[in-house]
Amino acid sequence: MSPNPRPVPDETETRQDCVLALDVGGTGMKGAVVDRTLTPVASLRVPTPRAQGPDAVVDTIADVLRTLRDGAQDQGLRVRHAGVVVPGIVDDARGRVLRAANLGWRDLALADVLARRTGLAVALGHDVRAGGAAESALGAARGTRNSLFVAIGTGVAAALVCDGVAVTSGGYAGELGHLVVDPQGADCACGGRGCLETVASASAVVAGYNALAPRPVTGAVEVADRARDGDPVAEEVWDRAVGALAQGLASAATLLAPEKVVLGGGLAEAGPLLLDRVRVALAERLTFQRGPDLLRAALGDRAGAIGAAIAAWRAAGVDAVGAARSGGSPGRVRQR
Ligand SMILES: [Zn+2]
Repeated sequence: MSPNPRPVPDETETRQDCVLALDVGGTGMKGAVVDRTLTPVASLRVPTPRAQGPDAVVDTIADVLRTLRDGAQDQGLRVRHAGVVVPGIVDDARGRVLRAANLGWRDLALADVLARRTGLAVALGHDVRAGGAAESALGAARGTRNSLFVAIGTGVAAALVCDGVAVTSGGYAGELGHLVVDPQGADCACGGRGCLETVASASAVVAGYNALAPRPVTGAVEVADRARDGDPVAEEVWDRAVGALAQGLASAATLLAPEKVVLGGGLAEAGPLLLDRVRVALAERLTFQRGPDLLRAALGDRAGAIGAAIAAWRAAGVDAVGAARSGGSPGRVRQR
């Protein structure tokens, strides 16, 4: 501890403001202290204790927020707000998680619970919509008013921006992974059958390959590598995933006409083998519809936390996207 007392920040002083950002996933949480140019000044990763039950996950989120807050305060920063993003059906406006099957939550007023337990003002959001907001603001979808961000990992989910407005619809919009692509297909975790994510999620690609091949893989990119090397089983599984994705995106193009479609998540790490093939398969399915530019996500696995920070700053009444775009220098807080 410093022998000299630290000056107490003036409430009207904004130079040393920050927000906390936390992206909660099924396996891990990514937290950061973020300045008003959306530059992280500290970060933290911890496992999500999903096996210990729904309450343990909430406890860990509160612990991580307190740790980040204390770290920020030790650096002399004033914490304005926290942004927390989670998977599931999330009603951002009401701060409630309506359903998060992965984490075992149902109708949980998570923003209020965390505010009570940390003393912080908390903005709650959805992980994929937050990622989409970050890609729209600073990443691959920047510069368009109509975009679709698709995260392809354990499941498949999407974030829509239509005419410049992020579409939420009470938390229910964007469930691209549950468009039916094969009515006779496999059972889906949602209770349906033949949903896109039963064929084209990174998990489905791994499971589909391992069910047929003698040498198992641990990740979807390995299936892509083997397809590239001419492994016929990998080719079949990969083509099926590509076809299903193209079918889902053709529906999105017909209904919403995004100008840019940004693919992120584990499957997008396959790069051109995913993008080039989906581009061809999508073009074959469109007739009159405007074909979107198909792009790989630019922000990688940081997108969710950046989106959480954008939401936290917005809740604090600060346009951090504008500050970041107008050349906030990384690592330095802007002076007023
Ligand atoms: Zn489903």
